[in-house]
This record gives sequence, C-alpha cells and structure tokens, in this order.
Amino acid sequence: MRIFDPHIHMTSRTTDDYAAMHAAGVRALVEPAFWLGQPRTSVGSFADYFDALIGWEPFRAAQYGIHHFATIALNPKEANDPRLAGVIDLLPRYLGKDSVVAVGEVGYDSMTTEEDKAFEAQLALAVEFELPALVHTPHRDKEAGTRRTLDVVAASGIGAHRVIVDHLNELNVAMVKDAGAWMGFSIYPDTKMDPHRMVRILQNYGTERMLVNSAADWGRSDPLLTAKTGALMLEAGFTDDDVEQVLWRNPIEFFSQSGKLNAASLDLAPDVSVGSTFEGNSIVRGARADS
Ligand SMILES: [Zn+2]
Repeated sequence: MRIFDPHIHMTSRTTDDYAAMHAAGVRALVEPAFWLGQPRTSVGSFADYFDALIGWEPFRAAQYGIHHFATIALNPKEANDPRLAGVIDLLPRYLGKDSVVAVGEVGYDSMTTEEDKAFEAQLALAVEFELPALVHTPHRDKEAGTRRTLDVVAASGIGAHRVIVDHLNELNVAMVKDAGAWMGFSIYPDTKMDPHRMVRILQNYGTERMLVNSAADWGRSDPLLTAKTGALMLEAGFTDDDVEQVLWRNPIEFFSQSGKLNAASLDLAPDVSVGSTFEGNSIVRGARADS
C-alpha cells in the first residue's frame, strides 16, 4: 500500500513516527501550516516556523524516505490576534517556493470578522500564485461553518476543483461534494472521525475527490490512521485500486494542480544522499567538496 498523507503536522511528531509511517507505506505527505499550541506573539515567529516547514522538516522526512511538502498560511485561530496581521504580508515570500503546494490551512475557527478578512485575503493569494487551497472547517457549528466556507470560496473566484474542504463528517460531506470541491477527512483514534465511519462514507459517496489524512496534531492522534483506513477498506470489499486511488492518486491529482509535484517525481526516493547536511535554511546535498 502506497500512501500520500495530504494533511499531517509532523512538527508535533518524533523520528519514530517517520520510521513507522515509512514502514506502513507512507512515501509522501503535506504538512499544512497551523497553530502551534502556544499562541505566537509576533510575525517573526511565523517566519521561523514557515522556514522550518520548507527547510528542516523536509530534511527530517527525507532521511526516512518520505517526500515532504507544505502549505503556508495564517491559520484561522491566530487570524484573530491583531499583532499577527503582518503575517499575510509575509506569505508571498513563501508561496513561490518549490515545496509549497497550496495556501492553507485557511478558513474559520470561530467565524469572526477578522477570520473573514484573513480567509478572503488568502484565497486571493491562492488565485494570484495559481495555487490550490486547503480549507479547515470549524469543529463547532460545523454545518453552518461549512456552508459559509463554501460561499466564501465561490465568491473568491478560485475554482472549487482547486479547493480541499477538510475535517468533514457525515453532516457536511454532501454539500462539499455538490459544490465540486475535494473532500478531506481527518481520522482520529477516538474523536470526530474514525476509520469505520470513514469506510461507510466512502461506501455512500464513492472514492472520487476523496482525501483521507491522519492530521496528527497536538491532540491524541495516530500518524498511521491512513494505513489503518486502507486496511479497513480492503476488509469492507474495496479493491486495491480503490485504496490506491484514495490514499495515493487522489492527493497527487489534487496537489499536482500546484505544478510543483507529479506521480513520476514521487516514484523516486527523496534526494538526500549520504553525507547531506542541513545548514542555515537549506539541505546541502551530498558530501561537500570543501569538507
Ligand atoms: Zn490541521
């Protein structure tokens, strides 16, 4: 089973997790920029975090044979802090980078005016930089939040086929499918959405435009839930090809809209040869001539 996890926060995980993920079949992932638990108080700490998402974390992943991509944005929760308004101005510096394959996570947390402004500004950046967008739906008031999210997406001018609406469940999957957007599901060990419910959703709504991720954030989470969902799909009568579509081809099809990745590039192991080191902000490939 080959797996591309389209939404996983590796910053919160250990190297043991990388090793276990590779053993379970994970060969590529997307790490969206998000909340770090402790609220940030300045724009500078976002710059350092974004640098880590395109520098240090891909280096860590590559050593375990995993391609690491990122999405960059000011997350909805911290969009409410006026000290961080300048983060939006920082984004263009990152959106053109090779491993940044979407704008995200954007969307709503508490559906405030500040969140509206940040959401709209960042969808406009996605259009300007010709990137897809990864949109988070609020965990509270999910149906109303998803409806409003889809209205804002439609008004932004980004095509629905270039948007993942994430953290869906049985209540809001149909409206996202009808809108023509991609449907993302974050699978958790014991809250929100589990592998059994996910398999039933796939039975009811099909495998097209469906993305399954393990989120793996600061709460109780499991970076192998993509693999476990795939195993449960097979038990439920889905074919190997169905599993490959959901766990591998769908995320590639979605994120290839960035123009920055494709299936052939992922067939090769990440390019970190023995002797590579991490210096400053980037990977130095292979042994250096002067060392
Ligand atoms: Zn997330």
